[in-house]
Amino acid sequence: MLKQFTNNSADEFMTEAEIKLIQVKLLRQHLEYCRDASPYYRQLLQEKDFSDFKLEALAQLPLTDKHDFSSQNNDFIAVNEADVADIVFSSGTTGRPCKIVYSEDDLTRLAYNEAQAFTRFGVTCHDRILLTCTMDRCFVAGLAYFLGIRQLGATAIRNGLNSFASHTRVIDELSPTVIVGVPSFLRKLGLSMQQSGTSMASVTRLVCIGEPIRQENLTLSPVAVELETIWQAKLFSTYASSETITTFAECEVGQGAHLSYELGIVEIVDEQGQLLPPGQLGEVVVTPLQMTGTPLIRFKTGDISFIIDEPCECGRQGVRLGPILGRNSQMLKVNGTTIFPQVVFSELAVIAEVDEYYIEVKGQHLADQVEIFVALNNDKITLNEISHRINAVTRISLKVTAVSREAAITKVFAANSRKPTRFFDLR
Ligand SMILES: [Zn+2]
Repeated sequence: MLKQFTNNSADEFMTEAEIKLIQVKLLRQHLEYCRDASPYYRQLLQEKDFSDFKLEALAQLPLTDKHDFSSQNNDFIAVNEADVADIVFSSGTTGRPCKIVYSEDDLTRLAYNEAQAFTRFGVTCHDRILLTCTMDRCFVAGLAYFLGIRQLGATAIRNGLNSFASHTRVIDELSPTVIVGVPSFLRKLGLSMQQSGTSMASVTRLVCIGEPIRQENLTLSPVAVELETIWQAKLFSTYASSETITTFAECEVGQGAHLSYELGIVEIVDEQGQLLPPGQLGEVVVTPLQMTGTPLIRFKTGDISFIIDEPCECGRQGVRLGPILGRNSQMLKVNGTTIFPQVVFSELAVIAEVDEYYIEVKGQHLADQVEIFVALNNDKITLNEISHRINAVTRISLKVTAVSREAAITKVFAANSRKPTRFFDLR
């Protein structure tokens, strides 16, 4: 039933009509598979006939949110235990992590999906790619990059979550051409390498994960501009989730992230779950195609972005996804203005005097009280000046409080956390 995955990026340059023809066929197959093999969807879709299903009708099918996924986790698994090849966890809504199982076919799909993304970044078999993310801890991202690199025939350097000193040594020794990592981490690594006088000249591309590098108008954020200058390398953003395994990746034009149309369909919905037109901000919903282990239909990712449907200069067809501007759950309303913490983080990250930072939110929905906590490394900047800089990008006044470096680090890098936490919701 599965399409034979081939690494043929020419596919992305098909006409819109050709893409839709293939997509509708794959969507019908996917819906039938969900109905027949997934206990959750069997119940939801009953005996529904999808043989004549149209792409436009997708918006009429029910959405699946993280609560559904969390509370009925086992019912989403659509393969026998013997056919499970890999298991990862995602954060659930019930306090317990959610299981996502991948079949052997899903891992093949995962490799193809990521190889396609690397191709969009202009990576070829001649590249050496340093991975600064974890390969283990029941996390899928590192594995995905590794499998994609292997499929491309490029070289992987799996130095993982490691110290600046270790990465510096590896870069010096192995001269990677591409680095995959979190922008704020890569910024600090670059600054540390500059200080030690180690050459970074081999690195021509930075693949940015976990944090957005662009603002709503698609220009690079202040931290991304600095990152580009430090490394003298081109930045590419990529976004995916463990549940949907469908990667959105920027091409060299950098005006929205492309997806492989044969691997997923993206929609944007409003707070009531209604479909929104291109350009409008809402929650990203993905229907991954050709997944067998934990197949999903219209999965609400909780991330906020928008769709771009104007043609891309690179010639690839299909819609693109804008930058992830924040999490649905982290949307803040202050004096009638909507902001996402990421805008504040992005500004704080480039203030040299700010060592660490986090945000706390109190109050009631639609009238949030936001307080920014910063650990300063000297007194060359005042809290007032920081507040002004935040005001310049958010157009709202937020309270800024100083904390010690130790207190901030304890809070941000809490034990057992896979990544730093800078947003604390006390609402
Ligand atoms: Zn493009």
